[in-house]
Amino acid sequence: MKLYIIGIGPAGEEQMTLRAIRALEKCDCVAGYNLYLDLIENLIVGKERIQTGMMKEVDRCTAARDAALNGKTVAVISSGDAGVYGMAGLMFEICENYPQIEIEVISGITAACSGGALLGSPLTCDFVVISLSDLLTPWEVIEKRVKCAAQGDFCIVLYNPASKKRVDHLKRVCDMILEFQPPKTICGIVRNIGREEESSELMTLEKLRDTQVDMLTTVFIGNSRTKVISGKMVTSRGYRGV
Ligand code: SAH
Repeated sequence: MKLYIIGIGPAGEEQMTLRAIRALEKCDCVAGYNLYLDLIENLIVGKERIQTGMMKEVDRCTAARDAALNGKTVAVISSGDAGVYGMAGLMFEICENYPQIEIEVISGITAACSGGALLGSPLTCDFVVISLSDLLTPWEVIEKRVKCAAQGDFCIVLYNPASKKRVDHLKRVCDMILEFQPPKTICGIVRNIGREEESSELMTLEKLRDTQVDMLTTVFIGNSRTKVISGKMVTSRGYRGV
């Protein structure tokens, strides 16, 4: 009994690994959020689909487990990397008492990497990734993590920076970072990486504070060594002594 947990990268086929494509070929049944299954439509023609809306993660993973128990080769799909705010952890929890299912996780390009490449090289040095979604993590914990990261002069990547219910979270986070980093700190936002409407923009931390973002955006906040070189966001590692 085989269950693959596959990260498909930011936008599907073009940015998937060969290993992910090969694993998908072996599967009879594919489980994932509708948007992600649509992104890989060409690769899953004729395969059974387990698809549910955004908030049905547990149901979807349970259905995937049951399909594997019924002898199907199953793929559970996440965008980016399945281990980064994806389905991999939940899948292991749900399969905990079913040792007969062999689980294989196949990594994908997470938004921090694909978005970082679009902007230039913002994550050359130590960085942290923080999700601003407080659905499963209390807001006080998120605040503490942001403050510690800013205090430590880490570059910061923000996933899930806003939603319809969380309109001012980015502003609040910028205000916390501004306690430790100057207003001119270089920042970047990327939206819809790898997809048709892809866009990116560089700005300062004080401008980011007043910028509207949505769930399709990933936000990059530079550190004291981040600068703009030839229109790109670059964090220096210090090779040239500058
Ligand atoms: N597992 C995914 C992350 C899922 S959390 C990964 O590894 O990339 C969802 C968040 O990821 C979004 O709110 C956004 O911040 C980021 N994201 C995922 N795909 C994106 C894309 N194509 N363009 C921009 N941001 C993206």
